[in-house]
Amino acid sequence: MYNNKILIIGALGQIGSELTFKLADIYGESKILASDIKVTNKKRFGNIKYLHLDILDRKSLFNLVKKYNVNEIYLLAASLSYRAEKNIYESWLLNTNSLLNVLEVAKIFKIKKIFWPSSIAVFGKTSEKINTPQIGIIEPNSIYGITKLAGERMCEYYFNKYNLDIRSLRLPGLISWKTPPGGGTTDYAVDIFHHAIQNKNYTCFLKRNTVLPMMYIDDAIDAIIRLMTSDQKKITIRTSYNISGISFSPNNLYDEIKKYKPEFKIKYNPDIRQDIADSWPQSLDDSNARKDWNWYRNFDLSSIVKTMFKNLDKGIKINYHE
Ligand code: NAD
Repeated sequence: MYNNKILIIGALGQIGSELTFKLADIYGESKILASDIKVTNKKRFGNIKYLHLDILDRKSLFNLVKKYNVNEIYLLAASLSYRAEKNIYESWLLNTNSLLNVLEVAKIFKIKKIFWPSSIAVFGKTSEKINTPQIGIIEPNSIYGITKLAGERMCEYYFNKYNLDIRSLRLPGLISWKTPPGGGTTDYAVDIFHHAIQNKNYTCFLKRNTVLPMMYIDDAIDAIIRLMTSDQKKITIRTSYNISGISFSPNNLYDEIKKYKPEFKIKYNPDIRQDIADSWPQSLDDSNARKDWNWYRNFDLSSIVKTMFKNLDKGIKINYHE
């Protein structure tokens, strides 16, 4: 008989690849079930059990939750902003039905806690751009943002109606080095490092002065853990918490990268991601997260760039010797 497992859905993505190991560090490898629709190398998660799961296959989800006695779920499977804009129908189905399936299984099997990330994409052109408040105008313009708004309403609805303990963050653009980014509007801030480290020039798909809220992956993982381990009574936002990392433009990032790679060159050739970026805030008011569960960020722009180069340097050496 399995006991109280923690299920991660979408474990092979940018967040899952790091969150899975963090959860294993905290709760032990034997407690964790990593899952994704992709097939992967058996050794990818070491001793952590990996299962194939299509989150849209409701029956398989129910069987898995029952079989392994799952009592906590992290739902990370989604279509991100740029990918969603290119596949509206599939992305709507994935982003909304994945959550609905998890909420239903949680209701039936009385799952204790769920994490589901929303995004800064819930805000649109009519929202305040700077220090965007937690509660204000929320009229997203991208299909991704519309699915996230629907998700936020569903989280609060299932909390109010069934007392399900669902916790959520409006994540900004994440910067990490272990996986390629998943098709979002802030992917440039990861891609640029891969070009710089290989001494290649970079063509950025956003305009040079487009300021967006961003965060280093370690801060995002820390925020997820802080939120999920907080006393239930402290959680006052049941839609999704604003959290803030650091705001910068492609040009600010370029200037910082040049300190390590003085020869590095950038060109700007904006595409449809510019329209998405123009509808998003530049910074968020995260005072609720700070007050309720003591949120703070550790990484600023210079420490992000330093850490990215340190890790990518190591990564390239590892690949080279393989
Ligand atoms: P990602 O695209 O890197 O990973 C998503 C994973 O889900 C992939 O491994 C994919 O194979 C898997 N997946 C797709 N369809 C599936 C299905 N039907 N069944 C099971 N798995 C499936 O995404 P990410 O960057 O890790 O983002 C995770 C969550 O965080 C998403 O909800 C995203 O909207 C949110 N978020 C991410 C960012 C960011 O910058 N990465 C910012 C804001 C919010």
